[in-house]
Amino acid sequence: MNPWYVCLKKRKYPNEAEALSGGAMQEILNPVKLRVYQCPRCKNWHLTKRDAEGILKHEDTNASH
Ligand SMILES: [Zn+2]
Repeated sequence: MNPWYVCLKKRKYPNEAEALSGGAMQEILNPVKLRVYQCPRCKNWHLTKRDAEGILKHEDTNASH
């Protein structure tokens, strides 16, 4: 899968505060635990249901190829 796919698909926030406020809004509409992380690819902030470390590990796996 194109690694940029996630960036195109996900909502982007310019900073952590924007991401947190966006996440708070989504939690009201659809109550799931979200976390925010700064994307290593596009440097914007995204919301995720997954642990951000999993994403970083995936990135490491690609780099070691
Ligand atoms: Zn991104």
